[in-house]
Amino acid sequence: TYDQRKLGVALVGLGRYSEGQLGPALKETQHCYLAGVVSSSEEKRKRWQAQYDLPGSNLYNYDTFESMAANPAIDIVYVVLPNALHAEYVVRAARTGKHVICEKPMATSVEECQRMIRACQEAGVLLSIGYRLHFDPFNKEMMHLGQDQVFGNVKRIIADDSMTLEKEEWRLDGALAGGGPLMNNGVYCVQAALFVTGELPVAVRAEFSPKTKPDLFRTVEEGIQWEMEFASGKKALCESSYSKDGNLLRVTAERGWFELNPAYEYKGLKGQTSEGPMEFPTIRQQAAQLDDFALCVKRGVTSRVSGEMGMRDVEIMMAIYESARKGGERVT
Ligand code: NDP
Repeated sequence: TYDQRKLGVALVGLGRYSEGQLGPALKETQHCYLAGVVSSSEEKRKRWQAQYDLPGSNLYNYDTFESMAANPAIDIVYVVLPNALHAEYVVRAARTGKHVICEKPMATSVEECQRMIRACQEAGVLLSIGYRLHFDPFNKEMMHLGQDQVFGNVKRIIADDSMTLEKEEWRLDGALAGGGPLMNNGVYCVQAALFVTGELPVAVRAEFSPKTKPDLFRTVEEGIQWEMEFASGKKALCESSYSKDGNLLRVTAERGWFELNPAYEYKGLKGQTSEGPMEFPTIRQQAAQLDDFALCVKRGVTSRVSGEMGMRDVEIMMAIYESARKGGERVT
């Protein structure tokens, strides 16, 4: 048996994902709840305080962040900031002695990931990445069908996670996003290829799509296509773009196929196999993800979506960028 108390979570950065998903999820969780917020905006802090009944002592800004160390109501810090700020805030969170969840992609370089992992190890705290799909029943079924070879050996994976972006925001600023659609969406395709095969790629090959809107895509790619090659001969053909919509994960195996479309959304996922439709209830992925991490903290065990996994994916994305920059050269 473990601690029955609900652990307190503090969200860092009250943007769209915190507001639309993580806050509401923390009203449904069994093992944790929203205990505090960190925001640059006084208006947001006050609004969240009222909405979630937070004590004034649990509201922070980025300058008072460190004083969380002395606040026993907060057990877990969840970093929901633009990608280039993840490393700094995960390191600072670890130094307050709190366990940490960091949104995807983990960071904008492998070196940052290493620093984040080291800081958490040194502080003796757990680190997890916001990979919500590991807790989604449709995506878990894809892992099972692929890794347990239910339709025989997997041959080929097609993954596309794309969305249309038309307005300026940090995702279009290379300095804050660390890249374009590959970093933001493509990370889901990389994840899916690895969780369906249960293998690591041995080589990648990539190409940027031509820019159709150079005014908007000044510092990040507009689209990218890449191939991942696995030692067993399996191949994943992937694509991510900010100029079209796409949400597909399709797997061809020796004796059948299985797919999700949409695959990476919060809800409304649809699954199909060569033997018929997949039927699963819709759950709130973020609530399942948060509860799983709270249980990891209570039990002192590493999350299945660990910092090491986040770093592995950043390493692969950096190889994909290297190949695209080199005009499609095979990078091992
Ligand atoms: P938003 O732009 O909506 O919010 C980001 C928040 O970060 C802002 O509201 C602000 O909060 C804070 N912030 C601090 N510094 C800056 C800065 N220089 N520029 C902009 N914002 C800043 O982004 P999202 O909520 O969509 O994304 C945040 C993170 O969550 C990203 O890493 C993203 O990849 C990830 N994400 C993950 C999803 C998933 O499905 N797992 C889905 C969506 C996003 P404040 O005003 O409170 O200080």
